[in-house]
Amino acid sequence: MINESYLDNRFLPLEELNIKDCYICGELLGIDTTTDHIIPTSFFRKGDQNRPKLPVHSTCNNKKSKDDRWCVKFIQFYAGFSVEAKADFKVFMDKAYQEKSYAYLIGQRNSNYKLAMNLFGNIKPGLEIKSNGEVLRQFTISSETAQRVNGWMKLVCRGLYIRNVTLAKPDLPKLQWSQYALSELKGQDQQFITPIQRLINNSNATSFGQKWGNRVSYIGSRAAESADNGYIFIHFYRQVGILAGFGLRKVSRG
Ligand SMILES: [Zn+2]
Repeated sequence: MINESYLDNRFLPLEELNIKDCYICGELLGIDTTTDHIIPTSFFRKGDQNRPKLPVHSTCNNKKSKDDRWCVKFIQFYAGFSVEAKADFKVFMDKAYQEKSYAYLIGQRNSNYKLAMNLFGNIKPGLEIKSNGEVLRQFTISSETAQRVNGWMKLVCRGLYIRNVTLAKPDLPKLQWSQYALSELKGQDQQFITPIQRLINNSNATSFGQKWGNRVSYIGSRAAESADNGYIFIHFYRQVGILAGFGLRKVSRG
């Protein structure tokens, strides 16, 4: 497990960043601007402070919001060994089952049901795996699903990076994903964790980070040379970790 003791809510006030561009599309902001929650609000609980936000184009915000809901469910499903992820996901599935019975009635709200169908229509169940007495079913996802979640996660990471690094305008990052229970079973957990922990330790002086309970935390740093080179490591439910590298030739040195 990654050591998170360094996460002390080190981040700049938004006014100090002098944001001119939309982090979603990269273009200059105009009149039609709104505020985007970089990390979707459904990951937070009432009273959670300092949620990262950035100004974006309204049209870009609408596009991302559609993916927000879908990708949150995907991550909760993927983090299935976490009690909290399971509970959050169950609320959604219960609603979806309820809506299923009215799905034929015109005008009934059935967005959760549609979302569930969309999510599971794309997932093929595989082998069951066991970890600490828990059972999780492995699954394979279509390349379409993978692309959608990956594309969304790249935007989230770029947003967090820009929200924390003055004058940064990086390209979309390269991502490396890990589901811990799965990699632990395959004996590959240290292959992911060791290089990331080293990256974090080495960048401690320039690092920034935030944490909200067990649901979400992130840490990142710019590389010394340029504001557009650096990394974000984001963690969901202590079960899913994603390393995003911006302009780095090699993200992890093992
Ligand atoms: Zn935009």
